[in-house]
Amino acid sequence: VNVFVRPIEKINSVIETYPKGIAGFRRYTELLDTEPDIADRPGAIDVKSLKGDIRYRSVGFGYSGDRLILRDVDLDIPAGQTIAFVGPSGAGKTTICSLLPRFYEVQSGAITVDGVDIRDMTLSSLRSQIGIVQQDVFLFGGSIRENIAYGRLDGPESAIVEAARRARLDEMIDALPEGLDTIIGERGVKLSGGQKQRLAIARMFLKNPPILILDEATSALDTETEREIQQSLAELSDGRTTLVIAHRLATIRNADRIVVVDATGIAEEGSHDALVARGGIYSRLHTAQHGEKGRKEPTSSTAHGT
Ligand code: ATP
Repeated sequence: VNVFVRPIEKINSVIETYPKGIAGFRRYTELLDTEPDIADRPGAIDVKSLKGDIRYRSVGFGYSGDRLILRDVDLDIPAGQTIAFVGPSGAGKTTICSLLPRFYEVQSGAITVDGVDIRDMTLSSLRSQIGIVQQDVFLFGGSIRENIAYGRLDGPESAIVEAARRARLDEMIDALPEGLDTIIGERGVKLSGGQKQRLAIARMFLKNPPILILDEATSALDTETEREIQQSLAELSDGRTTLVIAHRLATIRNADRIVVVDATGIAEEGSHDALVARGGIYSRLHTAQHGEKGRKEPTSSTAHGT
């Protein structure tokens, strides 16, 4: 279950009812601020240029009072590292990640970034420091430029062009007669799944947040596209603290640390090799996912590296 969908739906409805032609769309973070239940504390601070040192301390959370999804979750994610969350569907991987931008508030314990409790930060400044790439990329009916800028058209054109290039969207854009001004969405050019993913990545290169949450696509792209997207995502996450809700072996392997989430909370964590050697849940998941391939590729410990 993707808990990010709900806040995103709220944004969609606001953007779609927003009059076209008015200079700029409302900013993503401002839209998210329209959630009524999460407000800034008096004296909340505006954070800027966080390093992205993330800590979860005894975090407890449930969507309804009687059922805790997370109990006493402790996590240390040093700035710049990539951490991959794996585990069965419904275990709480998405939930753990959705607490960081405060889509929901922790019920007990605390989450800090650079040593500051995220509840002591203004919601908009916290969210300005976090980029999210989801499987369902939301595009609004406007130009590619507007979609990459996500309403922030006040920046220089060169920044948008550069973001498109780093996300490898430039070839496609160059091939279109109207380039960045090409209208996409229902009334315009329809983008492929891979192109949508690249657009989402371009948004993040432009936003340039120190913290990234990647909710990996479960739906299959063709292998070549998949490999290219993985490469762009790896470049995007370079130097940023990255939390990945992981489904892809390549990402999981390349993560600095893997956290195995199950119904009891965090069941195991460590590097790929350490977890395989441990012979626990991860090693069983790994064997199951690898089943067929594993037999064909006995040297599979290197076969999926990028
Ligand atoms: P998946 O791999 O399927 O995305 P996940 O590990 O990310 O699963 P979560 O989406 O975090 O799991 O869900 C954890 C639990 O919380 C599940 O039991 C789910 O049904 C429940 N849940 C998720 N979102 C909500 C919500 N918005 N309201 C109520 N319950 C929710």
